[in-house]
Amino acid sequence: MHCMFINIGNCPSLAHRGLAAYARLEPAIARRVKFSYLDYNVRDALQGSALHAEFTPASMLDEMLSDARAHEPDVIGLNVYIWNVDLVYNLVERLHAMMPAARIVLGGRQTDHTTQDVLARLPYVTIVRGEAEGAFRNLLLAWLDEPAPTVIGSISYVENGKQVHTPQGGYLESLDEIPFAYDDCLDEIASLVDRFPGWPRVQYESTRGCPYKCSFCLYGKLPKVSYRSPDSVIPELTRLLERDLTVEIVDPVFALHKKRTKEILRGLAGKVSTGLMTVETYAELLDEEMVELMAASGVGHVGVGLQSVDPQALETMVRNFNEEKYRRSIELMQRYDLEFYVDLIYGLPDSDYEAFKRSVDFVYSMGVSRIQMYRLLMLPGSEMTTGASEHEMRWNAQAPYELLANTTWPLEHVLTAQRFATTYQLLQRRLAATGLMDRMLEFTTSPAGLIERIAERLHTCGFNFLAPARGAKIDPLEVFCAEAGIRIAPQQSPAAQASRAG
Ligand code: SF4
Repeated sequence: MHCMFINIGNCPSLAHRGLAAYARLEPAIARRVKFSYLDYNVRDALQGSALHAEFTPASMLDEMLSDARAHEPDVIGLNVYIWNVDLVYNLVERLHAMMPAARIVLGGRQTDHTTQDVLARLPYVTIVRGEAEGAFRNLLLAWLDEPAPTVIGSISYVENGKQVHTPQGGYLESLDEIPFAYDDCLDEIASLVDRFPGWPRVQYESTRGCPYKCSFCLYGKLPKVSYRSPDSVIPELTRLLERDLTVEIVDPVFALHKKRTKEILRGLAGKVSTGLMTVETYAELLDEEMVELMAASGVGHVGVGLQSVDPQALETMVRNFNEEKYRRSIELMQRYDLEFYVDLIYGLPDSDYEAFKRSVDFVYSMGVSRIQMYRLLMLPGSEMTTGASEHEMRWNAQAPYELLANTTWPLEHVLTAQRFATTYQLLQRRLAATGLMDRMLEFTTSPAGLIERIAERLHTCGFNFLAPARGAKIDPLEVFCAEAGIRIAPQQSPAAQASRAG
């Protein structure tokens, strides 16, 4: 049997290689199943190939279809996420049309909570819900006519025109049950990352699940948190980092289990060559020893969620925030020269646009200018959708399920915040070399107010926020300088010449 995984993603698929590694623990599967992988860059798929401008997503899908047919797979596995859902479903329709005998298996967070809709559209697929390793292995055993559970848990399919959803199967006790996903393919992985320009990274999972219950998020919905032991993590990460790879640790909260995380970092400190790790964590969990170890062990980028400082928003999204600890953690990362960014969400119920701006100013007040601003997504299955009627939540029914409005965020305010976020990104890009973004507090007591004024000026001048690179007749840098009261001497760089006017 040939089982082929197709990944439309932003890096080589960890999930697919992990599924295969786990399934191969069964001797019958190891003996009788050949696994192969097709990894495609989602940005090329969405925007057309970098090499052939005439390529469209449709022609890209036909190329994928042609590649898949050439491999003659019996089973095809695909992961579905909010950023690739349309491409994957369109590809699945093509795969089924051209290879009706191939079994198609879908998994991933996007299908977990939309199972019935997916089966209504694609009744010939099998969906693996939730943690996939055990269910996928059992499916392969059943299709090989090898001994398998009579009822395979956590799968959904259509039989005799009716949808069947088997009971939830068990969960892994520990992530150590999954062999190192890249054990036998490190050369392939190292060469594959070149196909993902802008995303030179591989993913690694040392923790699955999250004990926090932020209502917009799905990570906390897993019934337990599973870990991979430091004895596995340290040598595996070392192998990746020694290859000069940027490793994205996909753990929802890297510093969750402090003792364990420090043990891992201690094991990596001093060993690491040129590879880097990116991690995400709850800022308040960081202490000086942790930050020092992160700096010493190749952590190159830290994402620290904040989302909002508005007490009402925090309460509604069921999220803790300790300002003193947060400030202390940021100060530590600055002291140890760790690169980091802060996430903020706009559109949160019980909060409003003014509160969003206060959150931006709070971040700036700590001397931080790298912010990622997101519109609230109403992910199917999240608690935020459960309480939707109370807040009159309206959102796009198609992925990525962006909020349209709620009781405190009329659509106009959502769009104002979106222009604000786009303007901020433009300024980051346009002013990157000048250092002006880091110096905003020199020019204003409210960076959010300044960004807002620039966004309004751009909007009034007809700036194209949907395609900022196209036909821009107005330069965000010039608007920035005008609004901030900065004079720039002709022929000299803004960094060198920026000075407060008047
Ligand atoms: S947002 Fe982060 S902390 Fe909150 S539930 Fe999700 S992963 Fe956990």
